[in-house]
Amino acid sequence: METIVIVGGGAGGLELATRLGNTLGACKRARVLLVDRWPGHFWKPLLHTVASGKCDPQVTELSFSAQALDHDFEFVQGDMLCMDRAHQTITLSPRDGGDGACRVIAYDKLVLALGSVTNFFGVPGAEQHALTLDSVADAEAFRRRFFDTCIRASEQKAPVNVVIVGGGATGVELAAELSNTARTLAAYRVHDLDPEQDIRITVIERGEHLLPQLEPLQAQRAARHLRSLGIKVLTSTRVAGVDADAVTDTDGQRHAADLTLWAAGVEAPQLCATLGLGVNHLRKIMVDSSLRSANDSRIYALGDCANYICPIKGAAPPRAQVAHQQAMFLADLLARRDDTPRPEFRYHDYGSLVSLGQHAAVGALTGPVSGKRYRVGGAAARVLYQMMYQKHLLQLHGTLPMLTHTLADWLRARVLPPVRLHR
Ligand SMILES: Cc1cc2nc3c(=O)[nH]c(=O)nc-3n(C[C@H](O)[C@H](O)[C@H](O)COP(=O)(O)OP(=O)(O)OC[C@H]3O[C@@H](n4cnc5c(N)ncnc54)[C@H](O)[C@@H]3O)c2cc1C
Repeated sequence: METIVIVGGGAGGLELATRLGNTLGACKRARVLLVDRWPGHFWKPLLHTVASGKCDPQVTELSFSAQALDHDFEFVQGDMLCMDRAHQTITLSPRDGGDGACRVIAYDKLVLALGSVTNFFGVPGAEQHALTLDSVADAEAFRRRFFDTCIRASEQKAPVNVVIVGGGATGVELAAELSNTARTLAAYRVHDLDPEQDIRITVIERGEHLLPQLEPLQAQRAARHLRSLGIKVLTSTRVAGVDADAVTDTDGQRHAADLTLWAAGVEAPQLCATLGLGVNHLRKIMVDSSLRSANDSRIYALGDCANYICPIKGAAPPRAQVAHQQAMFLADLLARRDDTPRPEFRYHDYGSLVSLGQHAAVGALTGPVSGKRYRVGGAAARVLYQMMYQKHLLQLHGTLPMLTHTLADWLRARVLPPVRLHR
């Protein structure tokens, strides 16, 4: 029986493992094995809600072992360290990260779905002093730092300065949520700061507008919304360096920062550049139209770590909708016999939605037939934004469990405080 190993159980990898488990694993046509360094899956686009304390990842996280049991695949927790292409094996870190022996796993086909990491663009001090949103652990670290800083500042009657570098979706979504969290913590008397005056959030973007994936009109709408929440928005501003207590721009202006979050871009993990596969300048693995590595026909890559160039639209962006579409494509391709014609992947851009807090979102949707872009905003866009996550749940669980999860989330939101009130 063929062994298909998928490394990375993120937005794309877990959907692929689930689909292949259902189709190939269930009828023993292949052994499907998922590897991830964490025990559970958290949908990355919601990380800003963990960082702002709105979402408790322990409640939302999906156990890989449970998903594996329900969908006929196997799960192995471990950090992929290297690969031996000649012997078709990958090497994983010792069990539980201990001193034991590394583990070797053999594959017939390997799918790399390793995601991305923060790109600091070599800005001095950024890696040492700025926090990131690459994982649940990062988001939790940010939440604790924000909470502690608010409490300390409250005791010292000092303001809190938060600087978010990068006005893309991550930076904008976090800024809006954080402003809401500051108000909620004040309402619950967790701190005595005035959320309008004393908690100062600044978003720094080097481009002319926030949200470069949207039209300028929509980006201006997002900027207006952030400003209405008291958030300072600086565009056309390049960061030159980051210190422990400030961010300095290329004009020499210092922006006080008790906390700096770096969300200015992503690149593929370092591991991708060490595997002997062709990679681009962001270490993304070069793949052909079947998402196969240009160097090895047994290896595929998807999502943020893959460099797929669409003949019409150019390089696919690092987005969950790309990872999802590529996962569905590979689920179909890997279920086919090797001697059948290989389909070609085509990326469809269905648009982009950015959350602006609890009640608003902004973005544009692409009509499936006409290809026309429709601007959306406000509460209706927020509902559509929320549906992106329901769609992911639908892929992982099916209709009834997805509806049950949604109902459970809704009920929790009715009975629990809107943000976590403790460290
Ligand atoms: C705050 C935020 C908001 C976002 N908002 C949106 C949005 O609104 N819309 C949108 O389309 N996209 C959004 N994105 C981007 C989106 O989350 C990513 O494009 C998507 O998650 C990529 O999916 P993936 O499967 O390639 O990788 P990921 O979802 O990042 O998963 C990678 C997995 O690989 C595992 N892994 C990595 N290295 C190893 C290793 N060596 N060994 C074992 N396991 C490993 C990781 O633990 C992880 O589980 C957002 C991202 C962030 C951070």
